[in-house]
Amino acid sequence: MIPYEDLGAANAPFIEEYKTSFEATLKSGWFILGKNVAEFEEEFARYIGAKYCVGVASGLDALILSLRALDLPKGSEVVVPSNTYIATILAIVQSDLIPVLVEPDIATYNIDPKKIEEKITSKTRAIVVVHLYGKSCEMDPILDICRRHDLRLVEDAAQSHGAAYKGKTTGTFGDFGAFSFYPTKNLGALGDAGAVATNDPVLAQKIRVLRNYGFQKKYYNEVVGFNSRLDEIQAGFLRIKLKSLDVITQHKRKLAALYHEGLSNAFIKPVVQDDFFDVYHIYNIRHPEREKLQEYLLTKGVKTDVHYPVSPHRQEAMKGILDHFDCPISEEIHKTTLSLPISFCHTEDDVCRVIEALNSF
Ligand SMILES: *Cc1c(COP(=O)(O)O)cnc(C)c1O
Repeated sequence: MIPYEDLGAANAPFIEEYKTSFEATLKSGWFILGKNVAEFEEEFARYIGAKYCVGVASGLDALILSLRALDLPKGSEVVVPSNTYIATILAIVQSDLIPVLVEPDIATYNIDPKKIEEKITSKTRAIVVVHLYGKSCEMDPILDICRRHDLRLVEDAAQSHGAAYKGKTTGTFGDFGAFSFYPTKNLGALGDAGAVATNDPVLAQKIRVLRNYGFQKKYYNEVVGFNSRLDEIQAGFLRIKLKSLDVITQHKRKLAALYHEGLSNAFIKPVVQDDFFDVYHIYNIRHPEREKLQEYLLTKGVKTDVHYPVSPHRQEAMKGILDHFDCPISEEIHKTTLSLPISFCHTEDDVCRVIEALNSF
């Protein structure tokens, strides 16, 4: 059986280094906001080309703290793609802001810049873009809209570590880039972890204060903060993994190229465009008989996944919040999309077997 993901196997190359790092942290006796977190923040900022990076507890928290740090008036409208993972929407809702859905481009699965302006009202204050599946959004028109309408920009870069648009890395275009290091992400920890990137020293300091109970000077609280810190042990693991992130990305790009060349035209494949450096957190195809195809692949020994089966505006939790939006493109994607194995644990042979199985459907 070819698994969709095997995190044990994907992390196996790093076991010895992880053990050394864990022992060193254990012996140091310093577990919260120490050397590993500070070093990782610097190394990750350098990697993506941002001035600052602040480690937090998860990708969701990275989004929430980013939105809180912008101090938008309660009830402000925030534009967000309709086909994102629910976390992006939750961050907006939990910050007392109103999500306004914009449909994606059916070819790229990312927010359609041409559909943003019709959704902007006098209450719109920000756009949260999502670089879904590891492909950057088309940033030039989005940055232009932000400038013309005086909107803040947050990037959900949870799936796009190292992905770039016109040579610039995702997470560095907006006021904030929010990253997740959930174990399955391209840069994954061995537990929950996240980070916020920014080029603004004042905003960076705001995130540092918000993540640690709202104080700069211990026990003197300036703002209503959170406990959302990246911990030392995870930061140690992330420092090790970061050194191999280029290798992981190249591996995924190689597997994606095999799919691109090998899969028949019965399947709609991800687009490959000039100006976009994609990192394939997910390699999805679309097919009208997705359920049948997924079952057929299981009989051929191939496990797949679906990202995602239900649109946010169709979720039970979003009744009264999103259910008034009409999102036919999102629904089409959610109905037909299928994610193929593309982990660091998969070999080129594995992918050739997956291609063979798909083409025989
Ligand atoms: C994973 C993910 C998140 C949330 O990250 P967590 O670390 O699980 O909180 C947010 N947005 C997107 C697009 C994601 O894929």
